Amino acid sequence: MTLLDLAPRTRTTPRLATLPVAIIGAGPIGLAAAAHLAERGIAFDVFEAGPAAASGVRLWGHTRLFSPWRHLIDPAAQRLLERHGWSASESLDAAPTGHELADRLLEPLAALEEIAPHVHYGSRVIAVTREGMDRTRTAGRADTPFLLRLERDGEIVDLSARAVIDASGTYTTPNPLSSSGLEPLGAEEVSDRILHALPDVAGADRARLAGRDITVVGAGHSAANTLIALAALAEDEPGTRVTWLIRNAAAVRVTTSPDDELTDRARLGSRVDALVDSGRIRRVDSFEISRVEPRDGGIRLFGTRRGEPAHHDTDLVVAATGFRPDLDMLREIRLELDDIVEAPKRLAPLIDPNVHTCGTVEPHGFAELRHPEPGFFLAGMKSYGRAPTFLLATGYEQVRSIVAWIAGDMAAATTVSLTLPATGVCSTDLGGSCC
Ligand SMILES: Cc1cc2nc3c(=O)[nH]c(=O)nc-3n(C[C@H](O)[C@H](O)[C@H](O)COP(=O)(O)OP(=O)(O)OC[C@H]3O[C@@H](n4cnc5c(N)ncnc54)[C@H](O)[C@@H]3O)c2cc1C
Repeated sequence: MTLLDLAPRTRTTPRLATLPVAIIGAGPIGLAAAAHLAERGIAFDVFEAGPAAASGVRLWGHTRLFSPWRHLIDPAAQRLLERHGWSASESLDAAPTGHELADRLLEPLAALEEIAPHVHYGSRVIAVTREGMDRTRTAGRADTPFLLRLERDGEIVDLSARAVIDASGTYTTPNPLSSSGLEPLGAEEVSDRILHALPDVAGADRARLAGRDITVVGAGHSAANTLIALAALAEDEPGTRVTWLIRNAAAVRVTTSPDDELTDRARLGSRVDALVDSGRIRRVDSFEISRVEPRDGGIRLFGTRRGEPAHHDTDLVVAATGFRPDLDMLREIRLELDDIVEAPKRLAPLIDPNVHTCGTVEPHGFAELRHPEPGFFLAGMKSYGRAPTFLLATGYEQVRSIVAWIAGDMAAATTVSLTLPATGVCSTDLGGSCC
């Protein structure tokens, strides 16, 4: 089969062609998909669970991105915005915070007359299927509209769509603390002492964290960001103690590489290294959590350390253990996901964190993102499944290609190109390098 054989069949089925494309999530990638659809004059609806555009980004809005503006703006979004007099940030080399990304790019984009009437806030998609077809029925499937079940204003409603782009991210479905991938036993009893990744250490969460013993669990960039912020808090607030707990012997993902062109991200690693070396952050490695218990107003983590039973006491835990996609709502959709990463099967080998720790990825579009369910795509952060290395530039190219496919423009859909900064921080468990 050639890629051209994968052209959509919607042009031959009149009812499908009259329906809008459904986009799940008004984050950077959902809104970029909307911009591409608007440019091509294809009807769409964006369903966003939160109260405003970029609700997901707002949850970590106090955090500064490591990418500069030049890697954060989707070309179709930029063309639409510029038509309305918008201009890019004063310096394309500066990296914004999440709030700045939302204020200066995503909210203005969502407010454009080409997009705003089609974005529905407070609309959580709870299931996707085909009209009258569960996943076991095959005949006529590709020609049958999708059905999205939504929860909005306390009501459940069903809507039809011609194609679905699920760009609902992974930020609200974090990995559990336990190395087994399950919630550690006892987690419910101490849930008030476990914070989601990236608390607002200098702002909203400061009073709760000041003067406490805090343990950050996780080895990625979210953990690094939080550790740096907590070390700064400890300077101002005596009694604040910071521990960094990781399950492996070394935290490869935040290790500094001089080859990382995302200099702000590379700096995260070296700053944490320096804080550990100076003793301002205590590092506990090789600790695998299995159970938690309340203890003296705090929390005791039980597990093993280098094969021996171990425990660690602390007041508060920040769970920076990464994220996973919510696949429950896609139960009736025929997905083809990688066993390990839970990303589309053809994309997974390019991003599997067991092989790649970097953000460098080969250009990919609809062909790598397709599933046995024609017209259904995972895009953006969610398309990476459990892999932590997603970059917006990658997602913008994904939705450009997907929308070209929906439009039946196979020449544009199959010509994928992507210019990402070299990250040079890729290493493998086998000791090799892949970037
Ligand atoms: C702290 C941090 C820093 C990052 N820094 C960078 C960086 O420097 N450079 C870079 O390229 N990338 C960066 N990323 C990675 C990535 O670009 C972001 O996570 C980005 O927000 C992903 O965009 P998205 O549109 O795929 O998902 P999201 O931004 O998560 O948007 C998904 C949207 O879907 C909504 N939603 C969720 N479930 C549903 C549902 N069932 N129904 C309806 N709506 C739903 C959410 O409310 C949300 O608004 C960073 C990520 C984090 C967390």
